[in-house]
Amino acid sequence: EINALQAVASMLVQLQARFDAEEQTEYNAYHDDLTGLANRRALLRELKDRLSAHRSTAVLVFDLDRFKVMNDFLGHANGDRLLTTIADRIRTSVRSNDFAARLGGDEFVILVDNAASEMEVLASAYRILDVVGAPIEIAGQLVTHTASIGIVLAKRGSENGLDLLGQADVALYAAKAQGRSQAVVFDQVLREAVDERSRTELGLREAIDGDGLRLHFQPEIDLRTGKLLAVEALVRWQHPTRGLLPAASFITVAEETGLVVDMGRWVFAAACRQLAAWRRQFPHLKLVVRVNMSPAQFATDEIVEFVETCLRVHEIPGDWLCIEMTEHAVLQEPEKTARILRGFRALGVEVALDDFGTGYSSMTELKRLPVDLLKLDTSFVKGITSDPCDRAIVEAIIRLGAALNLQVVAEGIEGGPTIDKLLELGCSRGQGYLISMPIAAEDLAPMLDAGTISLPALRAARSATLHSEGRPV
Ligand code: C2E
Ligand code: MG
Ligand code: MG
Repeated sequence: EINALQAVASMLVQLQARFDAEEQTEYNAYHDDLTGLANRRALLRELKDRLSAHRSTAVLVFDLDRFKVMNDFLGHANGDRLLTTIADRIRTSVRSNDFAARLGGDEFVILVDNAASEMEVLASAYRILDVVGAPIEIAGQLVTHTASIGIVLAKRGSENGLDLLGQADVALYAAKAQGRSQAVVFDQVLREAVDERSRTELGLREAIDGDGLRLHFQPEIDLRTGKLLAVEALVRWQHPTRGLLPAASFITVAEETGLVVDMGRWVFAAACRQLAAWRRQFPHLKLVVRVNMSPAQFATDEIVEFVETCLRVHEIPGDWLCIEMTEHAVLQEPEKTARILRGFRALGVEVALDDFGTGYSSMTELKRLPVDLLKLDTSFVKGITSDPCDRAIVEAIIRLGAALNLQVVAEGIEGGPTIDKLLELGCSRGQGYLISMPIAAEDLAPMLDAGTISLPALRAARSATLHSEGRPV
């Protein structure tokens, strides 16, 4: 009997251990390891339950401002302590019917129950920001931090959890963009901005796959003689209802959605095709076509081979092509960047740093990278006749170019006095509305044929400053 009882007891112990293990597995599946708060899965389950029970709920997405910088500064272990302290504060600052979860990193979500009005939810959000925002002592230092909150009020039965989280995220971005340390509610204005973005994305996809993109070309000349030196290819979207759109109106969406890679392929092929046609049409022609390359396209596999194929297919010598990249793009992954740029150089292709001066280039990198040309950003060029700071920046960049043996091209020349000032400072290449707007290939033909842009016309214009705001591109 004793043996039998011992066997039963041991079975019970085993059973209990199994229950405990299952409970632990269940707990792990729905909780965040670090903070013990609910995790993403638990949040979605809870949100679904609340929505299907028609409880009026507000979703608050909470995110620390500049957490990455703090984490790097504090070190990983202390960064974790910061997060657990924040989680504890969130836990104590929500009411019993509310629900708190950590999505990962420094992103937390709070479901506020019975959210009657926007004002009430905003008041709760600012209360949470206050409680969480008090300085925290970590490793003997007082760490101060702020956070932002994006809010969406769930309409009864109308939305699903993931959509709501996405909308709260949009509101969070708006809060960060408005200067951080605040709470923003997802409203009609944000909804329209999101819808507009989706429409742009869909339309652009169709334009890339169909026949909706165009290239315009803006001449670059020798400012002393009017000689045509290069043309910059700029993408345009022939929009079915809004007409011809400049790159500036859709490039951000193209970049954020990754569409810029396919768009860039089209641009390269179209630019090479056009250049080949010009070379046939104007046998005496010698110029460089400058093509903009986005960071995403630069990072694609075998980009050098892609450029080489474009050149080969259209029988274009490498030194007829220049790739324009922003400083930001070339400063990431310096090793890989240098390898790709050397690949371009081996093809004879020039590399230009676009919008130079706006991206905090490291001078060491600049010296190391095989770059041929700097494009002075419009924002400085505009001010050189009126703003001593702009003039000083432009002057410094021109000197830097000379010292590093890099050519310098001024962008955005809109007024005659700007040309005089640039020449005085030692920059003799430029482009801008004063010289020519970006135009279609057929409109460029007379200039290509002449090889110059007539200087009398330029001179006449140089005495009067051109105001380009609102001019169609
Ligand atoms: P970016 O490469 O610096 O091009 C110069 C921009 O300034 C162009 O705008 C051009 O139309 C405009 N511009 C030219 N002259 C003047 C002037 O005198 N004054 C002023 N205020 N602006 C002038 P766009 O075509 O809207 O392009 C905007 C940006 O979009 C470009 O800046 C470039 O970064 C990007 N982009 C344009 N085409 C392409 C492309 O084919 N591929 C990629 N990846 N990016 C492109
Ligand atoms: Mg450019
Ligand atoms: Mg530029």
